Amino acid sequence: MTVAMPRFAAIEPEALVECATPAEVAEALAYAERSGLEVAVRSGGHCFAGRSSSTGVVIDVTPMHGVALDGDVATVGAGTRLGALYDALEPSTIPAGCGPTVGIAGLALGGGLGILGRAHGLTCDALLGAQVVLAGGRVVECDAEREPELFWALRGAGNGSLGVVTRLRLRTLPAPEISAFELHRPREEAVELIETWQRWAPDAPDGVAVSLLLDDAGVHLIGTATEPCELPWEAELRPASFRDTKRRLAERTGPEIDTWSRSEFFARPLERDTLEALIENLEGELDFTPWGGAYNRVAPDATAFVHRDARFLLKHTATTPGGWLDRSWKLVHPYGTGGVYPNFPDPGLADPDGAYFGANRDRVARARAAYDPEGVFQPLP
Ligand SMILES: Cc1cc2nc3c(=O)[nH]c(=O)nc-3n(C[C@H](O)[C@H](O)[C@H](O)COP(=O)(O)OP(=O)(O)OC[C@H]3O[C@@H](n4cnc5c(N)ncnc54)[C@H](O)[C@@H]3O)c2cc1C
Repeated sequence: MTVAMPRFAAIEPEALVECATPAEVAEALAYAERSGLEVAVRSGGHCFAGRSSSTGVVIDVTPMHGVALDGDVATVGAGTRLGALYDALEPSTIPAGCGPTVGIAGLALGGGLGILGRAHGLTCDALLGAQVVLAGGRVVECDAEREPELFWALRGAGNGSLGVVTRLRLRTLPAPEISAFELHRPREEAVELIETWQRWAPDAPDGVAVSLLLDDAGVHLIGTATEPCELPWEAELRPASFRDTKRRLAERTGPEIDTWSRSEFFARPLERDTLEALIENLEGELDFTPWGGAYNRVAPDATAFVHRDARFLLKHTATTPGGWLDRSWKLVHPYGTGGVYPNFPDPGLADPDGAYFGANRDRVARARAAYDPEGVFQPLP
């Protein structure tokens, strides 16, 4: 299956075009234009909102997969999945997510969070340049010098709305020594644990990434560290292999998922009474991801990715849409930054561009107008 979520895999395109070269992408775009069909771009097929599925023309870049390493710079085909990329880069790596079947293109173009992010930033912060097929078929190389405005917009707003990325250049780093821990506690302890987590995790040393999950089974603290650190809980960090740790974290979601989620960034801790209400009403999963560190050391206008002042990201996940999911999201929304991670697109947002791009929204809109004046590519919902 090329699409991770079964409900989007069921959407049948008029034409699914598997492109092996930028010229084939240009041909597929021309075919869509001639036929008056909508275009969707697909790499790993993991979009939460199904933006890489369409009843028109799906341009799938999977055949353009492969990795070439030159010093600390990796040239990566846009069809490469994370698992294959990590294999090819060893003993180097990049800051990115865990799911081995997630596409590097979709992930990097919307940001890219992962266990090395607090120390090394987003995947898009490691992006040095990209090759893009624009609407109309022109193939351009962009980086800090060439088409700098396209390069700026791709880093956070590149998900299917500016052009078809066919190749990425990413700065790599040596895969670090890592230690890991897991702590599972009963739900009754959730308020105390979240209060401690909110104060500690966003300010922990940069090499430390501790997520807090809450579900039916209780509270789960799952963390990794690439530097020594004292945990505020009775838990021990144990040396682990970097790749095994990433594999184990990926197993928590699995490759095929049919869930619905909503999320938001937060710049200050949630109050105790809000936490109590959140936990009392829980009918799904809550996932607190720490922010801060290198994520926030990039200026909000340096790239299209604007969320550089948050302390954490809170994702609510359910097995059905609406209902609890909306109630839980609305309960904490008054305390959020209003910002939403572009890689967790949410069709329920009242003002999507404001949520994804904040103060960068006008510049993102200008980049779209310049590079896709006819609106061939669709913005995130
Ligand atoms: C199981 C699972 C695990 C995840 N883990 C993480 C994680 O650890 N960290 C994290 O940050 N995110 C994670 N995500 C979210 C993930 O970053 C996004 O879903 C991402 O957009 C997926 O990219 P894709 O290429 O796999 O998906 P696709 O559905 O193929 O694409 C996603 C979006 O990018 C666009 N796009 C894809 N390829 C191109 C291209 N070549 N050129 C232009 N636009 C393109 C699509 O049109 C679509 O809008 C996860 C998602 C899932 C389902």
